[in-house]
Amino acid sequence: MSETDDLRALMEADRWIDRVNAQKTHLPEMAELAALEVELRGLSKALNEAQATLVPVRAAYELAQGEGERLRARVTNLDMTLSNSTANARELAALQTELQHVRELLEHNDDRELEYLMAFEPLDEAVGVVKATAQPAVARRSELQLEITELQASLEDELVALRMQRKACSEAVTPQLLTRYEAAMARVGTSGASQVVSGRCDGCRIALSPLDVDRWKGQPEGSLMTCPECGRLLLP
Ligand SMILES: [Zn+2]
Repeated sequence: MSETDDLRALMEADRWIDRVNAQKTHLPEMAELAALEVELRGLSKALNEAQATLVPVRAAYELAQGEGERLRARVTNLDMTLSNSTANARELAALQTELQHVRELLEHNDDRELEYLMAFEPLDEAVGVVKATAQPAVARRSELQLEITELQASLEDELVALRMQRKACSEAVTPQLLTRYEAAMARVGTSGASQVVSGRCDGCRIALSPLDVDRWKGQPEGSLMTCPECGRLLLP
């Protein structure tokens, strides 16, 4: 293999590594996960709001329920006292008045209980809807997290193998050329060399001037000019 071939092999190796690196950091699953996270944050906010509205209404409903039970027990109690009573007329009248009063309180309380129930039910339903929507999204998030971990691990394995290949390629290049190559790569990334395709450097995609194209074509064997834009070694 000629010096240029060795350099080309190194460039290809670096381009491969760059592609796999880009794949690893731009998985479609990562974009889906990011969108899902946004959706879940919105759902979490909606759930918090729905629950914040629900909690006091439910508390009021439960309080009215408890009061209803207490009042109903009181009515039963007074009814029993009245039917078994041997009390005199005045005491009976007092019991009757109290029973009447408790019944009125109970009626009023039943109205309120129903009112709270009517307010409570749709709120409870809203909380349920948010939870039901979030559930598959949460499941999908776990799935995606797992998929991403697995995909990245397999791409990382590929990268390890590619870096080993790259090392072998770099060892074949002469130290002097390698120094120039590495310097260009450190400056612009991806690779330290490029090819001229249709008058353009395929590293930075900038068209070379006609003068530079002539210079590139007329390069003596073994000397490599650099791209005037990106500084990569231009392979013949
Ligand atoms: Zn260039």
